[in-house]
Amino acid sequence: MDPKVSSGTNEQLMPMRCPECGTKIEVRHVRSSFPCPGCNKKLCVAAGYLIRLRLLTAILAFVAAYLIGLRGMPLVLVGALGSLVFATIATPIGLVVLPPMIERYF
Ligand SMILES: [Zn+2]
Repeated sequence: MDPKVSSGTNEQLMPMRCPECGTKIEVRHVRSSFPCPGCNKKLCVAAGYLIRLRLLTAILAFVAAYLIGLRGMPLVLVGALGSLVFATIATPIGLVVLPPMIERYF
């Protein structure tokens, strides 16, 4: 790993870095929207990332509910509730395992 960060010409967005000043964003800073610890600009996690994470956790929850033998209405209820619980657990893990892109928050 090259510790030097090229400035200006690097077109590729770095995960978990401020798009404005390049400050590294720690997982503990990340909320649905949050100020950059470096330049104080309002930032957020790329929307596509959160949608994919939510979708993945919802699928996992429904598959888990199906596998424990639930069908019909209980499957829908437990699946919906489970996807909320899974998303709460998976979001901080996901931020570490698959660092998201950070975007300006408008
Ligand atoms: Zn910044």
